[in-house]
Amino acid sequence: MWDKIEVAVEKCAKNEMKQKPDPAHLGFGKYFTDHMFRMTWSREEGWHDAKICPYQNFSMDPAALVFHYAQAIFEGMKAFKNEDGQLYFFRPEKNFERMNDSAQRMCMPRFPVDQVIRALKALVYLERDWVPTEYGSALYMRPTMIAAQPALGVQPADLYYFYVILTPVGAYYKEGFNPTKIYVSDEYTRAAKGGVGNVKAAGNYAASIYMSEIAKKEGYSQVLWLDAKEHRYVEEVGTSNIFFKFKNELVTPELSGSILPGITRDSTLKLADSFGVKAVERPVSIDEVIAGAESGDLEEAFATGTAAVISPIGELFFKGKSYIVNENKVGALSERLYTELQEIQHGEREDPFKWVMKVN
Ligand SMILES: *Cc1c(COP(=O)(O)O)cnc(C)c1O
Repeated sequence: MWDKIEVAVEKCAKNEMKQKPDPAHLGFGKYFTDHMFRMTWSREEGWHDAKICPYQNFSMDPAALVFHYAQAIFEGMKAFKNEDGQLYFFRPEKNFERMNDSAQRMCMPRFPVDQVIRALKALVYLERDWVPTEYGSALYMRPTMIAAQPALGVQPADLYYFYVILTPVGAYYKEGFNPTKIYVSDEYTRAAKGGVGNVKAAGNYAASIYMSEIAKKEGYSQVLWLDAKEHRYVEEVGTSNIFFKFKNELVTPELSGSILPGITRDSTLKLADSFGVKAVERPVSIDEVIAGAESGDLEEAFATGTAAVISPIGELFFKGKSYIVNENKVGALSERLYTELQEIQHGEREDPFKWVMKVN
């Protein structure tokens, strides 16, 4: 379907290389590595001009379609390094297949997954000294695609840029693996069925900031989103999927069309199942969650996503009342999923699902 994409490599001069940040203070998305991958799509040529090159600014026409109509999609994935210098990706084909789904929904060009993974392996290997080894830290990779054609008028573009930038990120839980406080939004919603909530379209995130700021001001770290129609069914938490461990089953909202199909969500379902935990996808109402928190039938709640992997929830604030989950403690299942997923990602645990891919 695609001709082989040739990737040119243009390395930084030694004296242009950046000083590497202190691995103890990486934060999230603060430092970017020396090189990036980029390629261009035009209607006449398709994908071309693929290269690994020094990290650099784009020069773009201020009329580029992305700036007005937000035709932009992205992904979030990680590379890991163990003490022996072995580098791993975690289910990278899933991210790029999802990005192609996002591209299709946004009328942007699809790209060959295997060839982009090959280019990404070369990029990460070149940047291997940037990959932190400390447990819990990783090299976060941000593939992005934007409409670059200068034009007004809402329309597909004749010119797109695809690029991947890399940023070393620290352990998400510096102060320990602690439960978070969540604000349930019964007014603002994230995505409606038929919209673009099920793809990683940049505009979704711009639209969520307003509610996130309200929650932060009230002392909550994330927003729990309910469905757009009835404001009754649980959808997601922040930019993560959500799970509830009731006495008899582990539940996550089914992919209804407005929920992002998370790769950590899918991995959690499969891993929990392998523990012998009954894991089901079905609608979950906020009333069921609140009732469970009050009766104790809700044993654990946690969010899943690439950035934090598993993020336990200790408190839910809904319609002016606070509900504590599991006495605000990390539950046994959350802990086990967090540990085992990370061990698999670092190549330190048997990988029965064939999730990790060696980079070098
Ligand atoms: C990226 C994302 C997730 C998590 O997906 P992962 O593949 O697990 O990282 C969940 N919800 C939203 C809205 C997201 O953008």
